[in-house]
Amino acid sequence: MDSAPKKTATSKPASKTAAAASSPVKPKSAAQQALDKLGLRTPMDLALHVPMRYEDETTVTRLQDAPVGESVQIEGVVTRCEVGFKPRRQLVVHLQEDDETHEANGTRAICTLRFFSFYPSHQKALAVGQRVRVRGDLKGGFFGYEMVHPTIKQADAALAVSLTPVYHSTAGLPQAYVRKAVASGLQRADLSETLPSSGLQALHHLGLPAQWTLRASLELLHHPPPDVSLQALEDKAHPAWLRLKAEELLAQQLSQLQARAERASMQAPDFSIAAQVPWSAELLQALPFSLTAAQSRVTQEIGQDMSGNSPMHRLLQGDVGSGKTVVAALAACVAMQAGWQCALMAPTEILAQQHFVKMLQWLKPLLERHGKTVAWLTGSQKKKERAAMLEAVASGQAALVVGTHALIQDSVVFSQLGLVVIDEQHRFGVAQRLSLRHKLTQTKAGVQLSPHLLMMTATPIPRTLAMSYYADLDVSTIDELPPGRTPIVTRVVPSAKREELVERIREQVEQGRQVYWVCPLIEESEALDLRHATQAHQELCEALDTGLIGTELNELEKPHIPLVGLMHGKLPPVQKQAVMQGFVDGVTRVLVSTTVIEVGVDVPNASLMVIEHAERFGLSQLHQLRGRVGRGAAASACVLLYEPPLGQVARARLRAMQQTNDGFELSRIDLELRGPGEFLGARQSGAALLRFAELGVDDDVLVWAAAQATDLLANNPAAAQRHMTRWMGGKVDYLTA
Ligand code: ADP
Ligand code: MG
Repeated sequence: MDSAPKKTATSKPASKTAAAASSPVKPKSAAQQALDKLGLRTPMDLALHVPMRYEDETTVTRLQDAPVGESVQIEGVVTRCEVGFKPRRQLVVHLQEDDETHEANGTRAICTLRFFSFYPSHQKALAVGQRVRVRGDLKGGFFGYEMVHPTIKQADAALAVSLTPVYHSTAGLPQAYVRKAVASGLQRADLSETLPSSGLQALHHLGLPAQWTLRASLELLHHPPPDVSLQALEDKAHPAWLRLKAEELLAQQLSQLQARAERASMQAPDFSIAAQVPWSAELLQALPFSLTAAQSRVTQEIGQDMSGNSPMHRLLQGDVGSGKTVVAALAACVAMQAGWQCALMAPTEILAQQHFVKMLQWLKPLLERHGKTVAWLTGSQKKKERAAMLEAVASGQAALVVGTHALIQDSVVFSQLGLVVIDEQHRFGVAQRLSLRHKLTQTKAGVQLSPHLLMMTATPIPRTLAMSYYADLDVSTIDELPPGRTPIVTRVVPSAKREELVERIREQVEQGRQVYWVCPLIEESEALDLRHATQAHQELCEALDTGLIGTELNELEKPHIPLVGLMHGKLPPVQKQAVMQGFVDGVTRVLVSTTVIEVGVDVPNASLMVIEHAERFGLSQLHQLRGRVGRGAAASACVLLYEPPLGQVARARLRAMQQTNDGFELSRIDLELRGPGEFLGARQSGAALLRFAELGVDDDVLVWAAAQATDLLANNPAAAQRHMTRWMGGKVDYLTA
């Protein structure tokens, strides 16, 4: 910002380059709007808008001492000021260090200043003989020292007493305006102490001396004195930073604790069952397998929650294929037997449909005996079918309702909703989850009833993340896979070997196996996506048709179901369903697909997964995709095709995929590689992300904050409230969505 050419060339100190701010052509409201857009509305918002970096205008450097490549401030006399034309029109100025600054025994150093866009005012301020102070990035070249578009001040202007903050800004919002607004916000904000002295003492042990109050810390960050270590500021290692991190984490912990407390005070449906034989026991009897120890354990944890009288708010995490669906069905049994309805919501139609089929298979006999049914609701449903389903839901005849987010539309009225299960919860948006929460809370006979909520995810959450963002949730973990699975072997292969791969697919298909071939999502270009998938589809059709399909296979094949299927987001839902069914039935042997199959799909006979352009996928996405195979007893493989050259992060991701099948390990690596965004899914709405503290770095502060939050909320709820309001404003709701 500062180094941009200025219309009024300024012989005044830069702090007064309020050129744009005070100029009549820039109405104040435009800048105000820009501030609003940056989310800087209240004094506190402004006070917390800490600089992204600093410039040192506190000293004038002599050229001979000046580090080339860095931003420096120098002074001298103009000895030349001419408009040149090579290689393009520019103002060329020679600045010579004068008696006060030159090296006594050496020649006087000269720095060439270049302005590619300039105004008469520049020429006036830089007329030969003027003494000026300039600041810019110093370059050293064949022709000596140079600066391009430095800022200019009079040489005798007072030096800054603190480092000059540079703020994040946007077009139309000059630094000078931001500086003024921030300074004013800092003045006006209520920065009074909210931490109890015991909490401050504990912070002291973490390296925060008592003098670093919130005000002192913010003042230092906005106006650091010249002797402060720039490095410590940049590394966020300065105590002033520690103070902000501690306050921020405390606010996060407080709001989560508060959400938890609010929930605990709500009434939940009573699921106590008088019957001798629980439905869940009946279901277990009927299953073709027995639960793993981990499944039994989490089922018990969930049952415990549901037998209390405050609503369950539990996250069930378990790696892909660990068997979460059956746990959900068991939970549903408890609710249904007590006479309540259960809603099971999935992020895609394919997955919802698959859940529906599975639930029918597991629960239909049981429900029929009690005169109940399973309903299903999606956006693509035919009107008549939908009306019938809605009727069954409203009358309570449907004890279980499976569907997509169509479940939370206004037209859906439950008779007695007692349990909500959200599969792949991280795939739902904040707005959807908030709306769900509001919709679910109903008033019955004057009492606010909130259903039990079970969220499921295959993206395990690292401990520190669970402690911070998910502190308002109880977490159950399925940490073992059902027996008899052979681990998936993963290979990372350059795309040049594609042909060999197609050969391998033929072999697999001949052995009766099924194959997924996944094409990447190319951002913002569904058309391109589709072309990719269509091409791969064609290629595989050709490869498999020639010679491979013996009579055996042809006999199997129903005429209208292809051996190689193509699935993508643009297909009409009915067709999607047909393609998927072909694959589930085992008639379609190779399913070429865009990432629509990413979540949840379960076809145990599929044993090979090929992912094209694997370098374009995120780690958790790759892991989810890979989880589509290895679900049966057959040895399974995943081939990650990549297009060289690989970037560093992509390489690290693919290597991690090759080295481990453990979702927890992968999610730890992912957190390292890309920060918490990926895990938070919907919570990554900027509002909720930490701005100052960093997970993995500030874990000791996180532990401090967790302990303090409990303390503060119990002993000084007023201070806790003040702290939350100060830090979160109206964002609390989002944080706990
Ligand atoms: P995910 O946790 O990824 O949602 P699913 O619930 O889809 O996993 O289960 C994966 C597969 O494992 C399904 O075919 C399911 O029927 C099967 N399964 C679940 N639990 C067991 C178990 N205890 N023993 C054997 N197979 C199981
Ligand atoms: Mg699943």
